[in-house]
Amino acid sequence: MNYWNPYLETLPREAYDQIELSYFRKMFSFAKEHSALYREKLKGIEAEDIRSLDDLKKIPLTEKEEMRKYQEVEPFPYGGLLGSDIEKVTTFRQTSGTTGKPIYVPETYESWQWRVEAWCHILYMAGFRPRHRVFLPFGYNVYVAFWEAHFASEKVGCELVPGGALDTKGRIHKILEIRANGMMNTPTYGLHIAEEAKSMGIDPASLGIERMLCAGEPMPSATRKRLEELYQCHVFDHIGGTEPCAWAGMCEAKDGMHIIEPFFLVEILDRETLQKEVGEGEIGVVVVTPLGRRSFPLIRFNTKDLVIKGKNSCSCGRTSKKIKEVVGRTDDLRKVRGVLFSPKTVEEVLRKEFQEVEEFEIVVERRGLMDVITLRAEVNPQLPVSSIEQIKTRLQESLKIATNLSFNVIMEPPGSLPRYMLKAKRFKDLREGGKNE
Ligand SMILES: [Zn+2]
Repeated sequence: MNYWNPYLETLPREAYDQIELSYFRKMFSFAKEHSALYREKLKGIEAEDIRSLDDLKKIPLTEKEEMRKYQEVEPFPYGGLLGSDIEKVTTFRQTSGTTGKPIYVPETYESWQWRVEAWCHILYMAGFRPRHRVFLPFGYNVYVAFWEAHFASEKVGCELVPGGALDTKGRIHKILEIRANGMMNTPTYGLHIAEEAKSMGIDPASLGIERMLCAGEPMPSATRKRLEELYQCHVFDHIGGTEPCAWAGMCEAKDGMHIIEPFFLVEILDRETLQKEVGEGEIGVVVVTPLGRRSFPLIRFNTKDLVIKGKNSCSCGRTSKKIKEVVGRTDDLRKVRGVLFSPKTVEEVLRKEFQEVEEFEIVVERRGLMDVITLRAEVNPQLPVSSIEQIKTRLQESLKIATNLSFNVIMEPPGSLPRYMLKAKRFKDLREGGKNE
């Protein structure tokens, strides 16, 4: 069978719209009644005012900043964001805090099961089946993504191997020892495991991984293809967040990502006005309403994810809406010397054209009146020293073409830049007012 839920995944478009509108209205009333944030925010608008999906525009977006404020009241630690009785909360999660104070996220047993079910769609769509023994090379701590992966793999019937409390070498030995054939990891850590395996004299392709599902960071398609080459396996992407859950995943066609409908009502809005839905092939900001999770009600949450809207059909036969590509985050877009810059463009160039670059960091600073953008790059230690100057020149040329900015390129000694397991922080804006993420 190709679908996790054959009925839900092949509904006609009109049915999705109808179901989502009806769920939205229910969630809207629930949020107004149970969450202090929405009691205040949605004053004056009633569920009856929402007669079509077009009426969603009447409802203000929910921003992360206001959620932080509402979290400071009782009951500790969830405050006015909690949608259920605090005694019904069974699991604590939190955001990573890369953009400010973390948000604490409560899950009741029912809400958690709802999240896991949505994740099963992502996993099944990526071809994970009961024959897979899936290695998770992390301790998951309080961060949600790999907990969802853990519980969803069990539900799909895979055999799950938690790989926390080991170093990278130990994890590589474990993969070989138990013959794991599936893995879920951040793209960065997938590359790092491959690098480490090579240094141990092990070809990453010989680890036996057939399928890899990436989480935790935006993944340029060049990085996905690089992982496929290194491990000689199929690599899939998905997108989501701690607050809205994982809301889209890649099917075996590997052509964009399917929105998990009707679990989520996803709008892709024009980034200037945040009002109008963009057309196919256009870039927009993603606004998500999870439609069945009541412990943490969210109405029109501004994810700040920028995506290109995809077409609504797929060779896999699923009928849900698609996104073509993840562009980055509105938080990461910066003006450098008057040019709009996204760090993801640099990663795309490096993974595609510069496989000898093993780690990198981008730093923007102001020197006098000038913005200076620097790429610190670390190359494979096996490369002859004579080729390093040449790589530096090629890097400057390719980055200029891709970003329209002149980069100051510094070649760093092997092992000098930090390595990341969960969220990589490779972009630093040190200018006054610039956010250092
Ligand atoms: Zn598909």
